[in-house]
Amino acid sequence: MAALDNKSVCCSGPAPAEYARAMTGDLFRSAGAASGELGDILARAGEGGSVSREDALLLSGLGREEVPFLLHAASAIRDRGKGKTLTFSRNVFVPLTQLCRNRCGYCTFKYEPGEGPLFLTPDEVIDMAKKGAELGCTELLFVTGDKPELMYPVYREALSKLGYNSTAEYLIAMGEAGLRERIFPHTNLGLATRDELLAFRESNPSMGLMLENISPRLLKKGQAHHGCPDKVPKHRMKTMEIAGELRIPWTSGLLVGIGETWEERVDSLFALKELNDEYGHIQELIIQNFSPKQGIIMEKYPPPDFLDMLKIVAITRLVFGADMNVQIPPNLNPETYPLFVHAGVNDLGGVSPLTIDYVNPEAPWPRLERMKSIIEEMGFTLRERLPVYPEFIDDKYIKSGLLKLVRESVDEQGYVPTEEASNGKY
Ligand code: SF4
Repeated sequence: MAALDNKSVCCSGPAPAEYARAMTGDLFRSAGAASGELGDILARAGEGGSVSREDALLLSGLGREEVPFLLHAASAIRDRGKGKTLTFSRNVFVPLTQLCRNRCGYCTFKYEPGEGPLFLTPDEVIDMAKKGAELGCTELLFVTGDKPELMYPVYREALSKLGYNSTAEYLIAMGEAGLRERIFPHTNLGLATRDELLAFRESNPSMGLMLENISPRLLKKGQAHHGCPDKVPKHRMKTMEIAGELRIPWTSGLLVGIGETWEERVDSLFALKELNDEYGHIQELIIQNFSPKQGIIMEKYPPPDFLDMLKIVAITRLVFGADMNVQIPPNLNPETYPLFVHAGVNDLGGVSPLTIDYVNPEAPWPRLERMKSIIEEMGFTLRERLPVYPEFIDDKYIKSGLLKLVRESVDEQGYVPTEEASNGKY
């Protein structure tokens, strides 16, 4: 994607290993020494005060010598809200259909009719749910292309023979089927209507839609979202607003490194913050790094700079404060994900013992035992959560029948019981 403007995106920073050494130095340990405007912003954020858009833009311009101050503040804020507990979920990744009417520049998920099955059959989905439940998975993560029924008659006709008029209808039915196997659906449908979301919330304790970026500029010719009707930011915000009105615990986040500027990143964070200030339903923010792959339109586009990733994660923590759950996907950062703990993350996403990450098939999940021992060496405890976070397990967010099932699956803190406590069931 030659026309993508990557000059405005990233500074060229140090290699991860070099930066890791810098972070363990005296500078990091004496982070309280930040002074001037930077010191004022960090002190205010550390005391639970607000960080403005202008503050966030100033933080985005920090150089490598100053970034450790930012990381130190972000870590301290995370510790205040989350203590020394990091979380993950054990999931089964269900790519219900990989047909899609969009054409994102970074996509490897989508294929055309004839290149693979039109969709997974109900028997295949139920088989995955059963196997996942046997392996102790608690999340049936549905990921699909967007509205292929509007683009491919062959898909629409096959879906109709199954008895469904839309991908949403099929997802709702498969979520209910999964729940009957005692595994909780978490659906990433894309744009959705109020009626669809009302139906999803009967079986999904939480759902998700990445904002990715608030900038409509990315829809222009030569940009990452050109030719993607479902990536119009105001439509994505509308779906999330309806979810807020319905109080559905919601996962969203940013996709970093797809041609956006720092200003657009910060504006994306503040768009999500405004939504969450109004409805309080955003349970988790994923800060996902673009990952170049062979065969995609953006194949030759560089990944986001490591230092920039640390900064946007830490700025997210400062903007959203101590209570937000901030996630970095460890399989997309296999060498460096522990360093993001120093930038304020408290969640390491989904890990599957059964299925690959179909969106990033080149990126294997980390081995759980290894991840646990790394986290413990850093002085943290790794706990398993459901797709819905403990603080959202409440009748304000989840309807009573489903809430009963959710509560039966967690301990008194809202986490999946540990192996010892569950006699090896999990
Ligand atoms: S990234 Fe998602 S929305 Fe974009 S083309 Fe691929 S499947 Fe479709």
